[in-house]
Amino acid sequence: MKATERRKELVSWLEKAGTLSLSEMVAYFGVSKMTVHRDLDWLEQNQALKRIHGGAARIERPPSQQQENSFDRLSQIKCLICNRPPSQQLLYIITLKNGAQKVACCPHCGISAHLMLGDQVATALTADFLSGRLHSAQHSYFIMDGVVAYCCKPSILTFDSEEMAQRFQKGFGGKIGRFNDAMAFLKKDMTLHDPEGCAHCASAPRNDD
Ligand SMILES: [Zn+2]
Ligand SMILES: [Zn+2]
Repeated sequence: MKATERRKELVSWLEKAGTLSLSEMVAYFGVSKMTVHRDLDWLEQNQALKRIHGGAARIERPPSQQQENSFDRLSQIKCLICNRPPSQQLLYIITLKNGAQKVACCPHCGISAHLMLGDQVATALTADFLSGRLHSAQHSYFIMDGVVAYCCKPSILTFDSEEMAQRFQKGFGGKIGRFNDAMAFLKKDMTLHDPEGCAHCASAPRNDD
């Protein structure tokens, strides 16, 4: 198994298990302790897990205390596409030309909303996946279809630095692109699945008036 696949599997296992011990991971993957340590180091640097004594623990998202207040506000809001509550790390905010603000749960829904709203959109802000800080969507780096979908599928994550996007991609796969690439990626996915809109969001309740 390649390192990328092993790390991917480790993260999804940890998401379910909550915590894992070093010996569990060594036995499961049939690799050396050194290899597991390297994987854990790498994943921790990329904020995919937290190392604990003798193993690893899942990161509870959203973890940041400084942003508690804004998160309290966020929990009242629902995604304009799929009605999920947005999380700080994945937030995508669209400002329309008439001044109205629309919030999407993640860049997947944010870009879907862009495609649907077309030239009604004035500007868009998106959270950097690692820091949660908002910055311009047009200047972001997007990872499309990475292995871990934190919200809607196919997953799109945004980063404010190209370097961080590249580091993240090394472990989690996916394609790096700019805003226009993300638009084209989702447009293609939407036409493949459902000409009416995003198939992955379609099962969620939504206002169709
Ligand atoms: Zn959504
Ligand atoms: Zn979402």
